[in-house]
Amino acid sequence: MAPGLAGDVTTATGVRRVFGTTVVLDGVDLTIGRGEVVALLGASGSGKSTLLRVLAGLDDEATGTYTTHGSTAVVFQEHRLLPWKRVSANVALGVRGGDLRARVEEALHEVGLTEKGRAWPAELSGGQSQRVAFARALVRRPDLLLLDEPFGALDALNRLRMQALFGRLRARHDFAALLVTHDVDEALLLADRVLVLDSGRIAEDRKVPLPRPRAVDAPGFGAERRAL
Ligand code: ADP
Ligand code: MG
Repeated sequence: MAPGLAGDVTTATGVRRVFGTTVVLDGVDLTIGRGEVVALLGASGSGKSTLLRVLAGLDDEATGTYTTHGSTAVVFQEHRLLPWKRVSANVALGVRGGDLRARVEEALHEVGLTEKGRAWPAELSGGQSQRVAFARALVRRPDLLLLDEPFGALDALNRLRMQALFGRLRARHDFAALLVTHDVDEALLLADRVLVLDSGRIAEDRKVPLPRPRAVDAPGFGAERRAL
């Protein structure tokens, strides 16, 4: 069995990140189990995005120990699609494999955008663009999805739709996720555990009690409702 296959996908111990004289992360300890969805709450400026970037390997200057077994993919609040590449090329970006084309098509199908592969990002709505960002993450077959307020820029209806889509994707894939959000309801709806970041540390770490609300069956996007 590969290391970490049965245990935690991510462990972090004593993670510290200082900007100038500002201590943003002051000894963060956390674990994320395989397939577990963990929400990270905290006030604006508490260091949620900083921690996510550290765990994503995007910050060379943090100290402490942090390891993720397997692959990661990140979805940010803003979709970050390259405007000069078609949707399918955006999804495929940086991924290799003989079956890549089929994987891109499947990922687009899963987010209900089968017909948009040849579209340009500028032709998409905000909600559609964020679904492409999820397809781009899925095509990487991540062990850990790092999500930085991924629904934060969407209007209320699209946010509900994306939350429901996330629930369906989770039922089909075995990714773990760290979901940064400032929406407590969203955390309780989607996560198995909720962490609160305060004063540079994990101040709360609680399992979401069962029974918990189910991801709402919001009006769907079309194709993915038939597929899932
Ligand atoms: P959150 O995502 O919880 O709102 P951030 O992680 O974005 O918080 O920021 C935490 C703190 O770190 C803030 O005070 C912010 O100003 C500071 N910070 C984040 N990135 C940088 C940077 N590149 N340079 C200087 N300060 C930063
Ligand atoms: Mg942030």
